[in-house]
Amino acid sequence: MKIGVLALHGAVIEHIQTLRSIGVEAVTVRLPEDLDGLSGLILPGGESTTMRKLTARWGLHDPIMAFARSGAPILGTCAGMIIVAKEIAGGEEPVFPLLDVTVRRNAFGRQLDSFETELPMPIVGDRPVHAIFIRAPIIERVGPGVEVLARLPDDRVVAVRQRNVIAIAFHPELAGETRIHHLVATMAAEWSNPGEGTGERRLAGEAM
Ligand code: GLN
Repeated sequence: MKIGVLALHGAVIEHIQTLRSIGVEAVTVRLPEDLDGLSGLILPGGESTTMRKLTARWGLHDPIMAFARSGAPILGTCAGMIIVAKEIAGGEEPVFPLLDVTVRRNAFGRQLDSFETELPMPIVGDRPVHAIFIRAPIIERVGPGVEVLARLPDDRVVAVRQRNVIAIAFHPELAGETRIHHLVATMAAEWSNPGEGTGERRLAGEAM
């Protein structure tokens, strides 16, 4: 099983290292054919405007949409979260309209431009996630069918999932946090090998 990291711009190597540290084969994605044989894709942080331009220039827009629509797990972090949102506050066109949320870019103003906090995120366990926010976006609207995975103490939403797409406003790959990558790897294994995952599924398969 291989997971790709979109490598046109942004915090790429840290995601590759985080995946490798948990024993997952990780490759960079720069061309449409790099998606072949992948079981998941990470869209890293960086500058979403640059990622918008580069994905179009390298012919990656439609192949990434098709890959996501096939059900392969996608993780967007920070700028990656902005580019998977169906709506960007202020009226910018969406890039990969996959996730029924409205995001606001650079949502924390000057004083909180960048900060770190311990963030409860029950889906990865009881221990909070050490979350690093860097000129981070926020999720202002959560559509039906979107699961909230984490909120700040003031209730603002910073992590969500809708089916195969996870989006988080912070940078786990800069904090030595591996559990979110682990979750994506589990989803990827399940997607690429349905029936091999849980005992329940195996039983369902046997009954057929
Ligand atoms: N501020 C960036 C943007 O709006 C995102 C920052 C990040 O990915 N760390 O695209």
